[in-house]
Amino acid sequence: MSDIKQRLEEMRASIVERKAKLARHVEHREEPLPQDFAEQAVEMENDETMVALEQELAQELKDIESALVRLKEGTYGNCSQCGTEIQAGRLEALPAAAMCIDCASAA
Ligand SMILES: [Zn+2]
Repeated sequence: MSDIKQRLEEMRASIVERKAKLARHVEHREEPLPQDFAEQAVEMENDETMVALEQELAQELKDIESALVRLKEGTYGNCSQCGTEIQAGRLEALPAAAMCIDCASAA
């Protein structure tokens, strides 16, 4: 499980960094958009998309934080809805997943 913890912590660090970059860009319009936003830059011409992106990052961060809490409490890997074990492949692809595939697609 320590691998997962490390992955989650790396994901968290990268999101925190992206959030900071985004905030700087919003505050200082003249600054060019960082390279890792290049793909999204095309659609980021208005504040609405900026806000949406910011919310998306905030949500991702929340998911990761709660996954780290579950890891600490020993409930990581169990679906928060039905309690069954989340499929290993799903956790591999989405380490912050809180629900099994069935509950996630029903939600
Ligand atoms: Zn479930």
